[in-house]
Amino acid sequence: MHMGSIHEARYYEPLPGGKVLCTLCPHDCRIADGGRGACSVRYNHAGKLYTLVYDKVVAQEINPIEKKPLFHFHPGSFAYSISTVGCNLRCSFCQNWDISQWPKSHLPKCIEAGEEGRFEPICPQLAEMDDAVPGELVMPEMIVNSAIATGCISISYTFTEPTIFYELAYDTAVLAKERGLKNNFVSNGFISEAPLRELATVLDAINIDLKYFREESCRRISRARLQPILDAICLYYELGVWLEVTTLVIPGLNDSDEELRQIAEFICALGPEIPWHLSQYYPAYKMRDRPPTPVSTLRRAREIGKAVGLRYVYLGNVPGEEGDNTYCYQCSALLIDRRGFFVRTNRLQDGHCPDCGTRIDGIGMSAGG
Ligand code: SF4
Repeated sequence: MHMGSIHEARYYEPLPGGKVLCTLCPHDCRIADGGRGACSVRYNHAGKLYTLVYDKVVAQEINPIEKKPLFHFHPGSFAYSISTVGCNLRCSFCQNWDISQWPKSHLPKCIEAGEEGRFEPICPQLAEMDDAVPGELVMPEMIVNSAIATGCISISYTFTEPTIFYELAYDTAVLAKERGLKNNFVSNGFISEAPLRELATVLDAINIDLKYFREESCRRISRARLQPILDAICLYYELGVWLEVTTLVIPGLNDSDEELRQIAEFICALGPEIPWHLSQYYPAYKMRDRPPTPVSTLRRAREIGKAVGLRYVYLGNVPGEEGDNTYCYQCSALLIDRRGFFVRTNRLQDGHCPDCGTRIDGIGMSAGG
């Protein structure tokens, strides 16, 4: 259903008393009439759940695919990258918090303090909610047309958590696929099984953040549960979506040898060909109490990943480090020479190492492939 520019949400169930159960992500929010879910961009109005961000795009950029990061998915290509405001997590170190957390503090309140300190529900009208959400009014067809016109080969749903703009992402991805484009997600992996399975039918690649291997840290720092994220990583992989994993290494939080090894072992047990990106934390949002990750820590993490058996381990946010390059996991030959997000040379031939003939994992790995 389309009301103004507000769309009804695809994944929810009505509950008694005008409440709804949102089934899009594992928060499983029960939302009263006039309320919003934990992501703040799904709104129950008169017993129906609406997405507030269907056509409210706050970022449209052309990015190298390496920026996602996806290093084994059409290296050297460009992705038309979009996002809306909102996120279903609250990571205190979020680097994009100005857009990801925006709705939580800026959208009209759903309750207010009434007489004698009692909280009373108020139900902003749909139009009022719609007006309050920032973004350019952009429909899926416009996104696909722009991607094609700018020479991108894929559309990337990124910057904030694309799960919370699921309807826009899915409709765009269907159309993109019909028009010969690829689709990729950059995600926190906090999505429920049914939408994940539907999405996987049109998704070619995904980079998922695996920030922790400690349930307690995940709850305290990101206000989420770890197990559903691990489950989603496994399911995307099983369903054949090309998967890469990123870990933001944060001093004093997840940088112990033990936790890094556990993350690496989890990825490797799923598939040693899954690229692991280690990325450098720097102070942001509500976590400003520690220094940026030392490069020596990232190097140590990379050694742990390699020792565990992962074929491809990369260091992100560290310009000038050889951690950007792709090497043959059999003969160690340099195959893709990168500087930051840009591919300088790609020696792969038909997806194989030109020196020893080993097939290098990924999709469209050869230059121009
Ligand atoms: S997407 Fe997740 S956080 Fe948002 S309303 Fe639904 S269950 Fe809650």
